[in-house]
Amino acid sequence: MENKDNRLVQKILTLKEKRGAIILAHNYQLGEVQDIADFVGDSLELSQKAARTNAEVIVFCGVHFMAETASILSPDKTVLLPDINAGCPMANMITAEQLRRRKGELPGAAVVCYVNSTAEVKAESEICCTSANALKVVESVDSDEILFVPDQYLGHYVSTKTDKKMILWPGFCPTHIRIKPQDITRLRLEYPQAKVVVHPECKLEVIALADEVLSTSGMCRFAQTTDAKEIIVGTEIGIIHRLRKENPHKRFIAVSEQAVCPNMKLITLEKILWSLDDMTPQVKVPEEICLKAKTAVDRMLEIGRSQ
Ligand code: SF4
Repeated sequence: MENKDNRLVQKILTLKEKRGAIILAHNYQLGEVQDIADFVGDSLELSQKAARTNAEVIVFCGVHFMAETASILSPDKTVLLPDINAGCPMANMITAEQLRRRKGELPGAAVVCYVNSTAEVKAESEICCTSANALKVVESVDSDEILFVPDQYLGHYVSTKTDKKMILWPGFCPTHIRIKPQDITRLRLEYPQAKVVVHPECKLEVIALADEVLSTSGMCRFAQTTDAKEIIVGTEIGIIHRLRKENPHKRFIAVSEQAVCPNMKLITLEKILWSLDDMTPQVKVPEEICLKAKTAVDRMLEIGRSQ
């Protein structure tokens, strides 16, 4: 690391201590951001951390819905999102009003919402899920008809594993749909010994070519336990940093260098420092929405505890 970055990191760590803060980073964050975090993980792990921490301040290095989830679970804490413009286009593909309307058309369906959704949408849902627990959550719901929002691809993947009737909202991740089946076919020829892991936000034709369909935390576990020495990775490329760091003797090949989430990359070391200095931008979910959304998130976490 260059001296400039060293100084920046030192300033962040000093200020973090002074503020009584914890830094949480998603697996898709820039490598240098992951390196200064107290904890790096996927949405489910980060929400569990946010719920359990004693820190007064949570610096959330991820996107807006993740910071909202931290605020929902820890309403008395200050949640900082170092760049307030770090949103998730998929989460913004459904509004609470649109969901209320669809619910009206499907009175018998239970709403399961992917955690990649706004707090207002969570507040309209029965239960949340992440890509790591989506199937378990769907199976746990006391209804045979599920309205799954907003990711059609995760929803479709789950529908292939359950007998429940799944009605899918037509949302998608603009980053994961950049991963193409021909990329996998080409890399399989180039690395014939490699295993292929992809995220369930990928398109169906990509999922069909994978050896494993895993959440980002699932990919990290798989990398450590598989005998394979080469792994082709079909998700946002930020995770490659963590995989290489944790498995220095294995080779990780990104399926597509285009699988970059520009929103995740908005968080930089400089912005983390400014954020801790100014104690802005803060993310706070209004109390009425927070209470309803918390019920949906708590139900999901409860399933995690009973696993
Ligand atoms: S990778 Fe996709 S789902 Fe994740 S934050 Fe970016 S746009 Fe949203």
